[in-house]
Amino acid sequence: MHIRKRVMVTGGAGFLGSHLCERLLDEGYDVLCVDNYYTGSKRNIAHLLGNPYFELCRHDITFPLYVEVDEIYNLACPASPIHYQNDPVQTTKVNVHGSINMLGLAKRIKAKILQASTSEVYGDPTVHPQPESYHGNVNCIGPRSCYDEGKRCAETLFFDYFRQHNLKIKVARIFNTYGPRMHLNDGRVVSNFIAQALQGKPLTIFGDGTQTRSFCYADDLVEGLIRLMQSPDDVTGPINLGKPDEFKILELAEKVIELTNSSSEIIFKPLPADDPQQRRPDITLAGKVLGWEPKIKLAEGLKKTIAYFEEVLRAL
Ligand code: NAD
Ligand code: UDP
Ligand code: UDP
Repeated sequence: MHIRKRVMVTGGAGFLGSHLCERLLDEGYDVLCVDNYYTGSKRNIAHLLGNPYFELCRHDITFPLYVEVDEIYNLACPASPIHYQNDPVQTTKVNVHGSINMLGLAKRIKAKILQASTSEVYGDPTVHPQPESYHGNVNCIGPRSCYDEGKRCAETLFFDYFRQHNLKIKVARIFNTYGPRMHLNDGRVVSNFIAQALQGKPLTIFGDGTQTRSFCYADDLVEGLIRLMQSPDDVTGPINLGKPDEFKILELAEKVIELTNSSSEIIFKPLPADDPQQRRPDITLAGKVLGWEPKIKLAEGLKKTIAYFEEVLRAL
């Protein structure tokens, strides 16, 4: 008889987590989705509820959790600056206490555990593009610190559990990723611009729009996470996952206006504190170790995301 591998996804009702749960079910896993719905929503995984191999658990990972699984994907943490700055102490807690709980769980049940880390560990980078060997330029007392330093401490905990307790760990440093199921009020740039363009509202550029980001489509990212989890035990990462094509935020705004046929104008607002000026992943390592590279072009990914937001707005 085929025994399904049991996998837990924390933050599984969020944007990336829901895509990951869906993909893991397609691959024949038994999926436990754990979420406290802080930024995620049941809507994101409602279509999976009829699947007998999908299980949903409302739980805040800053509290201990006792379950039995073979693999853990630790995604629980708000990702949008607006949301993670709304309750910064909770953001640090989910990264520190939450990671300790998930690592303690992995240690007890001898499960493999993957951490969804972030390009934010590089802060406002002075090295460009960013390779995994770059140690970053992070302000430890600014408004982004709860997230940046929280994620950095989570990486520290992962590597200490690896060295001290021989845990099987995987650390992915995820760069800006977008796609369907981002929350309408998520606050991140792709969802903001699309929602604004579709509603005929002005697109809000923070600063002069010359800052850059590199955008990866959700399906490509999920493929990278699964490949990393399935890689040999000596592959711990950290490994950058993202799409190396770099765009100015102003270029992104123009592209969204073009693809939505919108008549929206562009307006400029103050740049938030500590907003990184440039960001592009060096994904040489992911190519070499995982044979991974993102395939979906920005225009193609934006079209799919626009179609999703059109549906969401129609249903309002
Ligand atoms: P998201 O906000 O949509 O998802 C996060 C999920 O975690 C939500 O469902 C939320 O309810 C849940 N959550 C938050 N606190 C929790 C807690 N204490 N206990 C249980 N669940 C909790 O964000 P996302 O974009 O899907 O990000 C997923 C992960 O990937 C995050 O860890 C994020 O830091 C990381 N990441 C994302 C990006 C990106 O561009 N999307 C980039 C870098 C890193
Ligand atoms: N933990 C958990 N589930 C488990 C095992 C542990 O949530 O199945 C939590 C528990 O709260 C503990 C933390 O993980 O405090 C760290 O566990 P570890 O064994 O590393 O440390 P200790 O129990 O000695 O504090
Ligand atoms: N940004 C913007 N307008 C918005 C939202 C974001 O110009 O409505 C900018 C933001 O200042 C940053 C970039 O877009 O320079 C990416 O922001 P996001 O919050 O998506 O992600 P992060 O800053 O974490 O990369």
